[in-house]
Amino acid sequence: MSAPALLRKGWCPGALRPMQTGDGLLVRLRPTGGILSFEAARAIAECARQFGNGLIDLTTRANLQLRGLTQMTLGPLAERLSEQGLIDGDPAAEAVRNVIASPLAGLDASACLDIRPAVAALEKRLTDDPSLHRLPARFLFLIDDGGGLPLGDVDADVRFDAVSTTDGPRFVVSLAGHDETVCVCASWAVPEVAAAIAEAFLSLGGGAKAPQRVRDLSRPLCAHWAEIFARREAAAAESGAFSLGVPPQEQSAGLRRVKRTAPGAEELLGTHSFGAGCRVGAAAPFGRLTAGDLDRLAGIAARSGARDLRVTPWRAILVTGLSESSAQALLAGLSETDLILDPVDARLLASACPGAPACASATMASRRDATRLAPLLRRMACDGPVLHVSGCAKGCGQSRPAPITLVGNAGCYDLVRDATARDVPVAAGLSLNAVEVLLRRLLENPAEKLVVGAR
Ligand code: SF4
Repeated sequence: MSAPALLRKGWCPGALRPMQTGDGLLVRLRPTGGILSFEAARAIAECARQFGNGLIDLTTRANLQLRGLTQMTLGPLAERLSEQGLIDGDPAAEAVRNVIASPLAGLDASACLDIRPAVAALEKRLTDDPSLHRLPARFLFLIDDGGGLPLGDVDADVRFDAVSTTDGPRFVVSLAGHDETVCVCASWAVPEVAAAIAEAFLSLGGGAKAPQRVRDLSRPLCAHWAEIFARREAAAAESGAFSLGVPPQEQSAGLRRVKRTAPGAEELLGTHSFGAGCRVGAAAPFGRLTAGDLDRLAGIAARSGARDLRVTPWRAILVTGLSESSAQALLAGLSETDLILDPVDARLLASACPGAPACASATMASRRDATRLAPLLRRMACDGPVLHVSGCAKGCGQSRPAPITLVGNAGCYDLVRDATARDVPVAAGLSLNAVEVLLRRLLENPAEKLVVGAR
């Protein structure tokens, strides 16, 4: 395979479409269902070390990103990834293969069904159907098996949430920003339903500034989808080739998605009984792990007789198929890594975007600073982290408000309360030492109305 030729700044990257960042080129890998064999994980670690800067990001879409690549190393990297089946046939197919699945797919006894065939079929439809390659690269499909690790907080455009019915397992299909059910379908119909929704989205999104996500649409997609679905049904019936047999209105009556909360650190990290055995969860601090730690994780897991690795959207990796004793041995082996195994680790109370030097827009090393500040933090009543550290005011590392957000600004930090990095700060121009002082004050007295040199 030849070297990826397309290099651009500021787009949604892939393995075949690298992105220029502050620390070199970045490529993103999308393992199907987030499932990695130990061999594939070790190969990724080796690629990161040999061709990049040895740093690997876990993303909120359960993807992995290798950083610090150069144009010289892209060709050999593509060859190695191809050997492991971790690369798509062409950039257009790669860009559209955005499907996130329940991390324990096929292994969770509490799930409504094994979603792996539906995930594989949807990915195949997306990559094989050129008409779908016009979908924006951020457009995300989600398939939740209804099991113990709900994907409730994942920001997907189209959701397939499994439910048990008297007719067997079905998917309740819904769209971002809408509670109503689009339709209910069987597992085998997932690719066709997804394609019809994608067609509806694309047909509504014309114009120079085409919407990138379902929530950006100004017209309702639901009604339009039903028209397209009916047209496809009629065409299928006429040709006698294929019929979905999923009348949207009738079958959706009464069935709605049950909103389920995403698992917390207690449910993810450390050892958990799982079926007849155990699983172990390990989080990457601020979503970043080293090639050495990934290699060690995969190596110990393989020697422990584990089944595979599952990358989650919560920036943690699960090791499945362990016995209780091998789970304990794995935990002991990982104690020398930087991976987070303890759900009360203070680093879990903070989040941070890549910051400097990884991001060219940053003036502050947000992850380094978050690491220094994390020990000061304590739990507060909020969804998500207490502190978010953003390298700049774009705030692309976290879209929802945090109790405290630090925003890099010309070599200092501005401080924002109960809002996002894009909002107005209550204090500005702070050194890291000054931030520490203010953080202590705020954590002592969260109700304090802080106004210190606001711009
Ligand atoms: S918030 Fe700013 S510094 Fe952080 S990753 Fe986004 S652009 Fe870069």
